[in-house]
Amino acid sequence: MSLLRSTVLLLLAGCFACGPAKAFELSFPSPLRNNSHTYYAHLPGSLPDGISFFEGFIRSMTVWMDASGNISLSAIDEEREVCSDVGQGSTQNGVNTASFADSFCGDDSYFTGQTVADALTQTSWNPFAILESDIVFNGHRKQRFETVENYFHHVAVHEIGHTLGFGHSAVRSAIMTARLTHGIRRSNLSIDDRCALAMRYGSPEDCPILLGEGLATDGLPTTAEFVGGATNDSGWNYREEFAPSDRITIYGTVVKDRTHAFRSGDLHVVASTEDGLLFARHADGNFHPLEDVENIPSAGELNTDLYAQDLVIMGTRHYEREPSVGPLIGSVYQLVGRTIFFYLAYSVDERPGVYFYGNEPIRVSWPDE
Ligand SMILES: [Zn+2]
Repeated sequence: MSLLRSTVLLLLAGCFACGPAKAFELSFPSPLRNNSHTYYAHLPGSLPDGISFFEGFIRSMTVWMDASGNISLSAIDEEREVCSDVGQGSTQNGVNTASFADSFCGDDSYFTGQTVADALTQTSWNPFAILESDIVFNGHRKQRFETVENYFHHVAVHEIGHTLGFGHSAVRSAIMTARLTHGIRRSNLSIDDRCALAMRYGSPEDCPILLGEGLATDGLPTTAEFVGGATNDSGWNYREEFAPSDRITIYGTVVKDRTHAFRSGDLHVVASTEDGLLFARHADGNFHPLEDVENIPSAGELNTDLYAQDLVIMGTRHYEREPSVGPLIGSVYQLVGRTIFFYLAYSVDERPGVYFYGNEPIRVSWPDE
């Protein structure tokens, strides 16, 4: 089989053109080839602060490089063919590009349809590396990119994140969130973005909300990793102690064992109180007493397309995709003055009864006063 035919294509829609949000996601089981990428960037025009779009694009790449010493991104100010000649909507021709266009290689449904994308990224990869990435900025939005402060920068950092292999994030502070919050033009990476970078290109220990060591209940070694934390400011900060009135969201991400890419299975969350009462999160988002620790209910299905997958363990609705379970834990179980430990796990159908989990829990305390 030729390299080209074995290569899988994935189109990642930019802000506003998105399906459900996910917490930090790794879309591919592999990083950039040689951890580096060079773009042919043809971006005529300039930003509100006077620098050229090309210089702005480099500034956006630098955000990711500054956060990880292990990736190398560069751009050449030169116009190259974006689209392949195999068909409409395909960019796969072996050249990385960034450009403005009014359609996505002849497919204008993304840029003129019901959901209008700021930019689209198409990435091709084989099982060992991301081979090619093309970022197409919506030409219809060029005037807004030229006049709205930080708008291009935010979109460019987000799209470059896709080319690093990151999917969308449910964490609202993340630059990889699926939707650009109206009026907010971020240029900083959040903890969630930094964790995605650390898990893929750095060392997992660089992620401040890593949940200890990944273990398997059958005692066999695993490369699975677990990340998560509790926040009441959309993920800018994670903490353990909250007031009863705080609106807490608990985010978690499962980074599957390398041998589990594309396997079907389930996510699991077990909550334990200080005195050993156990609860399991069910797929409806609610926690119920856990009767049998060897048979933990599913908190949701594993997405076979994702290498790392998130779950909003507890919290308010995110774009209607997660049940709102925030008030339940605090009020129904009378947990003021107590601490709950949330353990994140997953299982794969081919190994029934085996759970892969982070050995450190997410701790959440509601002190009395
Ligand atoms: Zn996106």
